[in-house]
Parts: sequence; structure tokens; C-alpha cells
Amino acid sequence: MASKTIPAQVVTTCDVCHKVMSRVNEVRIRRHALDWKGMPCGDGSIVLDLCNACIVALSDVVHERAEQIRSEKRKTDAGKEE
Ligand SMILES: [Zn+2]
Repeated sequence: MASKTIPAQVVTTCDVCHKVMSRVNEVRIRRHALDWKGMPCGDGSIVLDLCNACIVALSDVVHERAEQIRSEKRKTDAGKEE
């Protein structure tokens, strides 16, 4: 009888698309969880392990939304000055 030892393997999958990843991109959004009065009541952080395709897609959405918010703020601020 021959025996063979097969080393353990760590397989990490993307939290969004569930693909097996060779390289992990961690996204961490640190924030407080808020109670019904809007007061901090705990850790509301989000941590995701993402594949390359998903981190690119998520980055694009974050940049696009941030620019939208900046644009809305500029319009609001311009309205206050008039
Ligand atoms: Zn993915």
C-alpha cells in the first residue's frame, strides 16, 4: 500500500461573483452602525474579498457616485450664493 500526503489548500472565492481567486483584493468600508435616532450603536463596517473584475466594477461605481454627489453639492452651493 502506498500513501501520499496532499497538502492542504486554501481556496478563496470572491464575495460577489463567487469565482475562485488567485489574488485577493480586500475592500473595507469602516463606519458606525446607527440606531433609529441616527446615533452610533456599533460597528457597521463592510469587508469584502473581491476578484479583479469585481473590484474594478465596484471602483467605477464608487467614483461615478462620488462625482455625482460632488456635482449635486456644487449646484446646491451655487444656489446659496445667488
Ligand atoms: Zn468577483
